[in-house]
This record gives sequence, C-alpha cells and structure tokens, in this order.
Amino acid sequence: MPEFENPVAGFGVTFKAMFKKRLTEQYPEEKKPTAPRFHGRHQLNRHPDGLEKCVGCELCAWACPADAIYVEGADNTDEERYSPGERYGRVYQINYLRCILCGLCVEACPTRALTMTNEYELADRTRESLIYTKEELLAGLQEGMVDTPHAIHPGMTEQDYYRGLVTEAAPGTVRQEVRSKDPESPEGAAPQAAATTFGPTEPASEAVTEK
Ligand code: SF4
Ligand code: SF4
Repeated sequence: MPEFENPVAGFGVTFKAMFKKRLTEQYPEEKKPTAPRFHGRHQLNRHPDGLEKCVGCELCAWACPADAIYVEGADNTDEERYSPGERYGRVYQINYLRCILCGLCVEACPTRALTMTNEYELADRTRESLIYTKEELLAGLQEGMVDTPHAIHPGMTEQDYYRGLVTEAAPGTVRQEVRSKDPESPEGAAPQAAATTFGPTEPASEAVTEK
C-alpha cells in the first residue's frame, strides 16, 4: 500500500462503524427492562394476610459467600406476632457493598421468604445507605394484607399458611402494638448492627448502632 494511503486506511474501521446499527443506551433517561430472572435487590416476602415469611433461621446468612447478610431472630408472642410460627426475623440486613447478587441466599431460604427483584440501581453516596434494613427489604402491603404485627388467621396453623390455605387477612384483623422494638429508634425500628458486625457468627453486642 502506498504510504499516503495509510492515514486514510486507518479510517476504514470508523467508516464501517458509521453505517452499523447504534448500540448506545440512553441510560438513565431510558431504562431497558431486565431479563425476567435478573438478580437484583432482594425482597422479604409476606404471606397473603401480611404476616412475614422470614423465620429468622439465618440459613441465608450462612449460605452467603460474601458474608453480606445479618439476621437476628426472635420469638413471636400472641400479643406481638410477625410470622405464623414460633420465630421471626427481628433484625434483617443486607450489605450491598459486599453482595455479589449470586442468589445463593435465595436458594438456602426454606420458606421462600427471600427472593430477588429486578431492581439494579443500587449505587449511593454513603456506606450506611447501602446496608438495607428489614424495613427497606420487606415487601409492600398488597390488597387483603394487614401490616405486622398481627394475630395468626383464626383456625389456621403455620402449616396451613404454607399449604396456601390463607388467602387474605381475616375480617377484623388489626395491627398489634409494637412493644419489643427500640422506642428510641425512628418509627420504633429495631436497632441495626453496624457493617463491621456482619456475619452469622458475630454477635450484635455493643457494636449495634442505629442506621
Ligand atoms: S446474593 Fe449472594 S452475595 Fe448477595 S446476599 Fe445473597 S448469597 Fe450473599
Ligand atoms: S430469609 Fe429465609 S433463610 Fe433467611 S433468615 Fe429468613 S427464613 Fe431464614
């Protein structure tokens, strides 16, 4: 090739690209829907009457390869009930600075309490805001649900919930008074563990702070 053609030949790739279909995405103005099974932000699910599916067993925390989940379980009482069975997740946090969105926690959950949504916009400006609390992860209330705590559906057992026999809150179901939570924290929320205490083997102890 003559020497004077070299600079022109160098534009060959550019010219060819000019006639190709553009792949530029106008994010964030235009957001493309993800694949239906995309692994995004987690969600803590509820039963059809609003009671929580999480039983505070910590299996998700043990399964997590990134040590990103922190769970503290507690006992339900008839006066303050969050789930149909004996235990519920009193504190639940996922640290999205550590989470790699692998989904192993979802596989480990015995009650299908934990699933993943398609939400992927998880960037933020502070470390604290990327530690999602139970209040942030808990699914919203659908029609027929009453917010926790509230009584179990009359005549139903914990097993009946998993058999799908409870389809909505019983008539007259009302939210119980929250007694077990820290009244000092915002909206009576439970105290939250600091990022440094993450991990199923680490006690909440004195390192517990409010978010
Ligand atoms: S998706 Fe993976 S990394 Fe994230 S919390 Fe679950 S198990 Fe841990
Ligand atoms: S989300 Fe599932 S695995 Fe994790 S503590 Fe709750 S019930 Fe157990």
